[in-house]
Amino acid sequence: AVESLVVTREVATHCPYCALQCGMTLRAAPEGRVEVAARQFPTNRGGLCQKGWTAADLLDHPDRLTTPLVRDGGELRPATWAEALDRVTEGILATQSAHGRDAVAVFGGGGLTNEKAYALGKFARVALRTKNIDYNGRFCMSSAAAAGMRAFGLDRGLPFPLADIGQADTLVLVGANVAETMPPFARYLTEQKARGGTLIVIDPRATATARQATLHLQPTPGTDLALANALLHIVLGEGWADEAYIEGRTTGFDEVRRTVASYWPARVERLTGVPVADLEAAAHALASAQTAIILTARGAEQHSKGVDTVTAFINLALALGLPGRPGSGYGCLTGQGNGQGGREHGQKADQLPGYRKIDDPAARAHVASVWGVDPDDLPGPGPSAYELLTGDEMRTLLVFGSNPVVSAPRAARVEARLRDLDMLVVSDFVLSETAAIADVVLPTAQWAEEDGTMTNLEGRVLRRHALRQPPPDVRTDLAVIAELASRLGAGKWFTTEPQAVFEELRRASAGGTADYAGVTWERVDAEDGVFWPCPSVDRPGTPRLFLDTFATPDGRARFLPVEHRPAAEEVDAEYPLYLTTGRVLAQYQSGAQTRRIEALRRAAPNAFVELHPDLAARIGVGAGDEVVVTSRRGEMRAPARLTETIRPDTLFAPFHWGGAARANSLTSDALDPTSRMPEFKVCAVKVRAA
Ligand code: SF4
Repeated sequence: AVESLVVTREVATHCPYCALQCGMTLRAAPEGRVEVAARQFPTNRGGLCQKGWTAADLLDHPDRLTTPLVRDGGELRPATWAEALDRVTEGILATQSAHGRDAVAVFGGGGLTNEKAYALGKFARVALRTKNIDYNGRFCMSSAAAAGMRAFGLDRGLPFPLADIGQADTLVLVGANVAETMPPFARYLTEQKARGGTLIVIDPRATATARQATLHLQPTPGTDLALANALLHIVLGEGWADEAYIEGRTTGFDEVRRTVASYWPARVERLTGVPVADLEAAAHALASAQTAIILTARGAEQHSKGVDTVTAFINLALALGLPGRPGSGYGCLTGQGNGQGGREHGQKADQLPGYRKIDDPAARAHVASVWGVDPDDLPGPGPSAYELLTGDEMRTLLVFGSNPVVSAPRAARVEARLRDLDMLVVSDFVLSETAAIADVVLPTAQWAEEDGTMTNLEGRVLRRHALRQPPPDVRTDLAVIAELASRLGAGKWFTTEPQAVFEELRRASAGGTADYAGVTWERVDAEDGVFWPCPSVDRPGTPRLFLDTFATPDGRARFLPVEHRPAAEEVDAEYPLYLTTGRVLAQYQSGAQTRRIEALRRAAPNAFVELHPDLAARIGVGAGDEVVVTSRRGEMRAPARLTETIRPDTLFAPFHWGGAARANSLTSDALDPTSRMPEFKVCAVKVRAA
């Protein structure tokens, strides 16, 4: 039966997980088994991590959902598609008739293909006509996106190809543990080191990445902004700034110069715990390099001041004349597989396709004309992810490709709100923690069973190719969206065919910031991907941005003064320790997929709490003993892992597990005022032996 699903014996495609989107080959082996092989592709150069190697293990996994489920008498039971979709449609109509259109909300994911992200945004605005749609990318890198937009007028994770990273004389990684999150990336670090380059890692933990660094700066969690301002202070004091670049290509420098004047190194040493000598060495390594790249990731961004923290590093890069200089620049390492494309096509609360602002009349008119609707009928911007998930307006929620019960901040509050809904619908291929509390669960196709495109961390549009069909009672998300739209009387606007969706997406994005008008599936296959913006089929894509001009109205990059401020929740006598969260090599995001894969479970079987041996001794805990970590929002329990490489005032917990080991039971729901990114990376906790 499984063999009968095969549509072709072999396809070139990409890993379903992270934003590196490693190239891989899928082969249909005898009896329908699917084999994964690494593929030479410009991003991964033949490498895959253990998550990629084992990705096919979920295709025929016993936990795979193969039929819709509906809740009856408190239990989920199998149902036909007709019954499940009837229940969803009736629930939507009942909610909207009783409470208005905005009472139905949609929550998307950064792992959905471009086609699905586009169709979902359109479904919310055209079929449901609700303003309430956002996605889990809000939790991922929205702060870097907002900072990039305001400094450069454009947000593309890396404005240059990955290959440039291996060529940088000095590379700075801020809150990025690439050795664990995207191991094939380590090739660029090896290449950079082999050329005699300097690697500076800024991270409170001595991660696997930090251990490879020439210089590791280990700041107190939540103080990266001050550290960046101090580096700029030193650069200016030493006369190392690129004055010609500042004069010719930027605005706003004088105010930044005044702001960083007070970030003298001795003051910042007290604030961050990073010695003055290390600050000076880092500034010198950056300023003396012919080519230098600064990259931020979640460690710098997931803060209530994440946008300003990224801005501080962009200010530093601008003062050194890096953005737009070949081989140099600032970039953000996007996390989720389609974290980049996922935020470009309209599943974000404030955006329409092409990275257009939903409150811009011209943008609304353009997209409405492509969709064939009245622009006045398009809803306005809605609340951000956490505000959506915890607000009072939502009575029914449709979740596609996300597991917020594990991945949202202050997760117990989110879970309680989801349990309290009139109806929760989850589209997924396993019974995630969120699906397990749903009223209706719709089983969807996996990555090896669908065609489409993803956009990786470089802004390179990639093709996903189907090797086989989904199992008989499983449908694609596009089919679910089209069927629901049809039942809601909006069927004429939707199709189940991904290439037709992409063709419409091209038209909708034309002229926007993320312009895909010249990208075709055929070109993507023929050219190892196409970098946006690509406004017409007779023009190449754009691997390097900002060479001559920035995407701001005057073509200049904007310096913006930013000040350090404490985390929303500082340590005190009652909660004397910092908690920071992150990922481990063998697990991915909420773990709903990777925790089910035997080889990955063996490699990373359970959650843990990392703490310094001095702290462990103080509370009478040995390695492997269970500890209870408590914040003002909840508690988690997990075995202690002792390491000298963490600050004695800081705990680390991975966020891949639910239940009692859910790290997000502790995290803070303080939001960045601009990006609405929650402060995942620092909160105050206490710890004791269980
Ligand atoms: Fe997949 Fe990312 Fe691992 Fe590459 S690094 S194999 S894209 S999870």
